[in-house]
Amino acid sequence: MAGRVWLRGGRVLDPASGRDGRADVLIEDGCIVAVEDALAGVSDAEVVDAAGLWVAPGFVDLHAHLREPGQEYKEDIASGGRAAAAGGFTAVCCMANTNPVNDDPSVTDYILDRARKDSPVRVLPVAAATKGLAGEVMTEMSALVAAGAVAFSDDGKTIMDSGMQRRVLEYSRLVEKPVMVHAEDQTLVRDGVVNEGAVSTKLGLPGNPAVAEIVHVARDLLLAELTGAHLHVAHVSTAGAVAHVREARARGIHVTAEVSPHHLTLTDEATLGYDPNTKMAPPLRGKDDVAACIAGLADGSIDAIATDHAPHAVHEKEVEFTAAPPGVLGFETAFAVVLELVRRGQLTPLQLIGSLSWNAARVLGLAMGRLERGAAADVVLLDPTRRWVYDPAQGFSKSRNSPWAGRELEGRVLATWVGGRLVYQQGRGVLVP
Ligand SMILES: [Zn+2]
Repeated sequence: MAGRVWLRGGRVLDPASGRDGRADVLIEDGCIVAVEDALAGVSDAEVVDAAGLWVAPGFVDLHAHLREPGQEYKEDIASGGRAAAAGGFTAVCCMANTNPVNDDPSVTDYILDRARKDSPVRVLPVAAATKGLAGEVMTEMSALVAAGAVAFSDDGKTIMDSGMQRRVLEYSRLVEKPVMVHAEDQTLVRDGVVNEGAVSTKLGLPGNPAVAEIVHVARDLLLAELTGAHLHVAHVSTAGAVAHVREARARGIHVTAEVSPHHLTLTDEATLGYDPNTKMAPPLRGKDDVAACIAGLADGSIDAIATDHAPHAVHEKEVEFTAAPPGVLGFETAFAVVLELVRRGQLTPLQLIGSLSWNAARVLGLAMGRLERGAAADVVLLDPTRRWVYDPAQGFSKSRNSPWAGRELEGRVLATWVGGRLVYQQGRGVLVP
């Protein structure tokens, strides 16, 4: 039931208004009805004592793989939605590389129908830019937008044909949706599985060079400039890509960008033990790249933190490094992992929360990610000092592939409300549907 909830005395972090301080938040009938320094005389409300805790807008994830339809053994909309709720996410974008690919309004309809029935959080479908992610024939963008697509992406694949990429960007302007790019030049990646450099040499594994990303980011920025389209660069991982995005923004090109928790906190050194749970695309990079990604987030060149939540079954990941599929879980560890940047003084709490919520919502042009009177009550309650050990087997995802498995983390999501409904409470689990 969406009753009246009074979140009392927490540190309220609202990036949209810049509020960072002790305040009360009142939720009623699914909406935020008051954010005040101190409310008084509220009757019939469930009081949540938030003293010492953070109250923030629900997180908005621009990049996740929910695997439904077609790969429900890895994840489905119900399990992915539950993991998202436990991670403090109230809305998640799901990428189109399902089976069938989300390149047709019937698939978008299916995803949204499953989400309404199965997911405790809002699901925002990202449709494919080209049919079957093959990079050859464009999808019908206006029909996909009419069905509910919030953006277009061939994520997992890169549109190698520059002429096709130009047309995709041109058409995206007509439907006013961003094109999210997985920027990796496949002719440079070839069979590379780890960052090309000292670590790949030490491991004796084929390297995936930073320039594979940089070349495509540079190309796509030029095409965005030519077409006037909104380019969104997914999972930036290199200093070179950050520099290109920063320079393009300064020139007025319509570009936004995201970075993943793993590219912000892990280097390629993490792969030295050949653990397939440290294999991603793009790969973990060197420490200068990680520093550049953090600096890009801090100075606003990179808008958002997006998980790239990518579940894979145990039997797929427990193979030799070169054979394992790339990708790691992200929802349930994201907040704790990136909170490290606040502890190190590299981001303020408001910047961190902004990159997880308001900034991400703005990339999509959605009215989410804020604690404003009248806004839907998508809210998270966070304990920034709670320590816990992450065990994927105790989590909500169907998969286990995480580089943080067994690690002690600091910072925990205590509760998540979507439209005023308590969907997750730490200790009690996911409560709806
Ligand atoms: Zn990708």
